[in-house]
Amino acid sequence: MKFELDNYHRNIPDDLLIEDLVSVAKKLGKGSITHEEYNLNGKYSSTTCLRRFGSWFNALEKAQLQKTRTPANIPEEDLFKNLEEIWIKLGRQPRYQEVQKPLSKYHAGTYENRFGTWRKALEKFISYINNEETVSSEEEIKDLEVEPSTLHKTKRGINWRLRFIVMRRDNFKCKICGRSPATDPSIVLHVDHIKAWANGGETVLENLQTLCSKCNIGKSDLE
Ligand SMILES: [Zn+2]
Repeated sequence: MKFELDNYHRNIPDDLLIEDLVSVAKKLGKGSITHEEYNLNGKYSSTTCLRRFGSWFNALEKAQLQKTRTPANIPEEDLFKNLEEIWIKLGRQPRYQEVQKPLSKYHAGTYENRFGTWRKALEKFISYINNEETVSSEEEIKDLEVEPSTLHKTKRGINWRLRFIVMRRDNFKCKICGRSPATDPSIVLHVDHIKAWANGGETVLENLQTLCSKCNIGKSDLE
């Protein structure tokens, strides 16, 4: 992305921004353009367009360019999983401007295209997560039968939704040393069974905790 001082292009008229979007699309021979393409070829920056028009989607609409060039075939699951990963890295809800490379695999505009608005994407993500929360507690598995083959009621694997729920509960910090990726990017968090699954521990919220990779290795290799 081009280096740009805040508000440097505040005074560029809308028309000129739109004109430039159109001319870049023309130059590239495309019906639509991505942020990256615009930043490489445009006079201004995609951030300027974003701020002016509220979203990349809106900017393309104003310029009468196609709004669905962002791959429509990214599975919803991947979009959510990516959101989960950046949420964990930040230790909080990601902001629209932050959702871009290298932090995020997909640009916020991709979420907008898919869900209508960034807000709606976040809402959909949360409701997806919340669904998981209700099925992963001790209370929920209380009446389940133990599987004869595994001697467990739950599977050993922790899916990414459950991982997120546990980390959110633990404030995206290691339960032992308190470190977090938000303050130290070298920290990688894991979710760990408190009572090892191999020893009869179940994969439920109550038996899971957030640990950093260092503390996790220190704790046990048997997990
Ligand atoms: Zn730790």
